[in-house]
Amino acid sequence: MTLDTFKTRLLRRIDAGGPLLLADYMQACLLDPKDGYYMRGEAFGADGDFITAPEVSQMFGEIIGLSLADIWLQMGQPRDVALVELGPGRGTLMADIVRATSRIDGFLDAVSIHFVEASPALRQQQKSRVPHAQWRSRLEDIPQGPMLLVANEFFDALPIHQFVKTGETWAEVAVTRDDDTLTFAKVPPGPAFLHAPEAERRAEPGTVVEISPASLNVAATIADRLKDQGGAALIIDYGYTAPPHTPTFQALANHQMVDPLAAPGCADLTAHVDFAALARIFMAAGLKTGPVEEQGAYLMARGVGARAQALAAKADAARVLADLKRLVDPTEMGSLFKVLEVRSI
Ligand code: SAH
Repeated sequence: MTLDTFKTRLLRRIDAGGPLLLADYMQACLLDPKDGYYMRGEAFGADGDFITAPEVSQMFGEIIGLSLADIWLQMGQPRDVALVELGPGRGTLMADIVRATSRIDGFLDAVSIHFVEASPALRQQQKSRVPHAQWRSRLEDIPQGPMLLVANEFFDALPIHQFVKTGETWAEVAVTRDDDTLTFAKVPPGPAFLHAPEAERRAEPGTVVEISPASLNVAATIADRLKDQGGAALIIDYGYTAPPHTPTFQALANHQMVDPLAAPGCADLTAHVDFAALARIFMAAGLKTGPVEEQGAYLMARGVGARAQALAAKADAARVLADLKRLVDPTEMGSLFKVLEVRSI
């Protein structure tokens, strides 16, 4: 069975090279070309392991699409714009963006759609919803020109390093074997610890700090490009601006939190996004950055309430209102999810 072989492969990797840093474990579990979680392409929606905002309601993508088109108008309607989505999942968000912006004169003619997606199975699903998209393995491969970028629940899937302060010293969390079981271990901090802000390092014993160099790298690539060639990025995800100092690394399967080590490759592994760290990179590049807004406030300020009313008038009103609540209510996705808007203009 695939599960056994993948776990066996991880155990052998640990035998050969020692404990796997949490970031390496996360990377392997999510993106292993054969057994990685995202390779199965079955994650999203009510039948999957978790549901994302675009899968809750078309209203989400419509508001995001109109926000991007509004920025394009403010930019003076440039041509040859790369409309980029990082980690498009089933392609639902972009399909909603395309439909909502089709009424903005000239917008769709001015953009070409590029998807950065690691999973061949998900690329297939994206193709069925957005046939004219182009697929890229890396953000760096997207043709030159102004860029409008959106990333919903992408950064939370990028690997993190986790550090714990024990007494006066820091340790890094790793995954090792105990007989035939995977278990957590602590090892001396690796180079990712250099990204930890000085103030964090002086924290109380017991403090946990999570750092995602992969996220910082993607943010730096976006920042360079926006600075050189103009455009904007909308980053939407669950996360924080003040570090929680507790672990946010988690595993989700069938809408439940599960043990992240129990069945590698079978659960979604994520961590909350450090929006302050991303914002620092964009600000250092001189881009107009933020503020980091709560998703509920962001969508409401851009008219999702009126959109819900219009939809409710011609569809199942109770359903539309329940979906709206799910997107914006602070007890649902409204507060935990944040939006960071970055622009060159
Ligand atoms: N944006 C979608 C899906 C979020 S799940 C939605 O909101 O529904 C994360 C997505 O990012 C998946 O499509 C996954 O395959 C992709 N992904 C994760 N890590 C990636 C990486 N390193 N490079 C490219 N795509 C990645």
